[in-house]
Amino acid sequence: MSRVFNFSPGPATLPEPVLRQAADEMMDWQGSGMSVMEMSHRGKEFMGIHAETEANLRELMGIPANYKVLFMQGGAIGENAIVPMNLIGRTGSADYVNTGEWSKKSIKEAKTYGKVNIAASGEAGNFTSIPNQSQWKLDANAAYVHICSNETIGGVEYHWTPDTGAVPLVADMSSNILSRPIDVSKYGLIYAGAQKNMGPSGLTVVIVRDDLIGNSLPVTPSAFDYKTQADNDSMYNTPPTYAIYIAGLVLKYVKQRGGLAAMQEHNQAKAKLLYDYLDQSRFFSNPVAPADRSLMNVPFKLRDDALDDAFLKGAQARGMIQLKGHRVVGGMRASIYNAMPIEGVRALVGYMREFEAQHG
Ligand SMILES: *Cc1c(COP(=O)(O)O)cnc(C)c1O
Repeated sequence: MSRVFNFSPGPATLPEPVLRQAADEMMDWQGSGMSVMEMSHRGKEFMGIHAETEANLRELMGIPANYKVLFMQGGAIGENAIVPMNLIGRTGSADYVNTGEWSKKSIKEAKTYGKVNIAASGEAGNFTSIPNQSQWKLDANAAYVHICSNETIGGVEYHWTPDTGAVPLVADMSSNILSRPIDVSKYGLIYAGAQKNMGPSGLTVVIVRDDLIGNSLPVTPSAFDYKTQADNDSMYNTPPTYAIYIAGLVLKYVKQRGGLAAMQEHNQAKAKLLYDYLDQSRFFSNPVAPADRSLMNVPFKLRDDALDDAFLKGAQARGMIQLKGHRVVGGMRASIYNAMPIEGVRALVGYMREFEAQHG
């Protein structure tokens, strides 16, 4: 068996012990005589897996008791509609901060369901920094303020938590959930697709404060109504059972490795290796303001983009894949989520050094 270093932005690399355990349990989960994939979501085996997964997420993230954890389907793009359908009705409008491609998608989708104010935008700076909160124009009457805590494509990340006063803060954390400790009580709602840092695709996690539930617009499909899902412990429709099981294994693995503080240390060390190299290089560069650089997604460019293909080919030959940047920004992107070992980043930097020596 040979495993590559997979720098994919998502679906992304998973911890090897998780994959091994899933393989071991594929045919017969803990003496049940069946695979988790084959279980009734209402049977005691799966109910146990579901409860344990939620309990571990609550413990790792320190989720307060007055928040519901919902395991849904539809992905973060689904939530771009589901969030306003459930929350915007309270006042009819919401504030959005535009920090790049994923914010733009959220904004576009929300406009169908209410009035959207752009409270701040990084567009003038080509989305290379997070607008300072002193420049935000927040509306006290907004139903919520929406941010994308880590822009997976542009590589900018909030390393601070906005203060939105009495207006609930909503965050798309798809690409940095579980990467470091956060104070959940500062948010009204957090959502994330699982396939970056938490598990396989198909599962969307929503963490929502109790008092925000129950305000959905009449058009809201029942399966996407937070109240229906909360009242039914995320079992109103069949939840993505196998994805929940794998996410559960990932959460146990993160706990074993020391929890989110340990993940943060590990992620900082990896990102530092890469950014330090980029900053001293005269051949490779990253455009993002140092204070706002993502620890998860590191976009970078070669001085001469005619060499992009050669760079990618050489990486592939050395067992490093999925380094091509998003077409919107071009160049390269290394996604270095929790499950990327530091050896992968060392191998990448070593190859970049070699490539620069040859072509720089
Ligand atoms: C990947 C990603 C999405 C899209 O998630 P889907 O599961 O494809 O809907 C949305 N927001 C962010 C920040 C992402 O990284």
